[in-house]
Amino acid sequence: MDNEKTMRAMVIDTMYGGRKATKITDIPYPYCADNQIIIKIKACSICKHCEAFYDGGGSASMVKPQDYPITLGHEFSGEVVEIGRNVHNIKIRDRVTVDNTVLCGECYHCKRDEPLYCDNFGSMGHNLHGGFAEYVVALAEKAFLIPDNISYEEAACTEPVACCMHAMDRMQLRYGDNVAILGAGSMALILAQLVKHSSANHTVVIGSTQSKLDICKNQFGIDTLLMERSNYSIHEEKIKEQFPQGLDIVIDTTGSAEMANSALRMLGKGGKLIMYTQVDNMYIANPAQFTNYEQSIIMAYCQTHNYGRSIDAIKKGYVNLKPLITHEYSLEDYMEALDMNLTDRNSLKIIIHPEWKKGEKKVNI
Ligand SMILES: [Zn+2]
Ligand SMILES: [Zn+2]
Repeated sequence: MDNEKTMRAMVIDTMYGGRKATKITDIPYPYCADNQIIIKIKACSICKHCEAFYDGGGSASMVKPQDYPITLGHEFSGEVVEIGRNVHNIKIRDRVTVDNTVLCGECYHCKRDEPLYCDNFGSMGHNLHGGFAEYVVALAEKAFLIPDNISYEEAACTEPVACCMHAMDRMQLRYGDNVAILGAGSMALILAQLVKHSSANHTVVIGSTQSKLDICKNQFGIDTLLMERSNYSIHEEKIKEQFPQGLDIVIDTTGSAEMANSALRMLGKGGKLIMYTQVDNMYIANPAQFTNYEQSIIMAYCQTHNYGRSIDAIKKGYVNLKPLITHEYSLEDYMEALDMNLTDRNSLKIIIHPEWKKGEKKVNI
């Protein structure tokens, strides 16, 4: 009976299969084990970087060929419709979001309380079925209740906030630090809000898309600087005027080696460059200055165990996600939504609604 029930989902059939192996199709409704819950998905957001990577024939490092076919989507929220018989923390009809990470609990790093370095690190929407579907099954212990003042759409974006929270932990910001964020995508605009509501003295976002800088300035009250992509000396000079001693922290979200070096030129003595992205072919143009001034580069990967603090930050308004949700689509229109996200420079977070009918769409900008 139950195992004959099916549901709609956005599935990739084979590893490195890319778009030609991707389809929106019927798959079996999930089985709920004793310690699990089944969630009716209300919102699942597109993680532009990850989803574009799969679409182009890539695959996350944690994924193995035997994990396929897989339903993508690691940023989701919904209503609980089934609970296993050992579940006590969650009830049917609860509004929840789920920490997407999968940790083995048994490896060297898990036992050292370093879960982010788990040798078997995994994630829903990568190697367990994710949220681009009508339903998803999850461990009850990974679920978090959504406060009343947070919408399903905002709650779906808890994961990117949690990743930014991890970057905050990594940068060890000191009271009175002056901080710049390079880039004005959704992660940059979340990081900027977290920095603004920290003990930083000054926060500035440096980006090349005016509409995104406008959101930052008008909605979040954060200073911005327009970056001229063909001439970095313009924003570097402006930073030098405002902060003659250089910045204490620069967070790069752009992933470009040239931008990373622009960041280093704006850093003061003892400054920290936080790499919130992977930079290929990174080089340090002036290693002597880098060494003598004890500057450092700190990497920030994703997150584990940061959902609670992230939900608190969203609930209190320290992170306002509403202006970042620019478009909403039905699951059937997933490809159109992804293409739009990749081509429209004004788009930020795109929410997919499995309950919506094909063609149903909302543009919030
Ligand atoms: Zn994500
Ligand atoms: Zn482990």
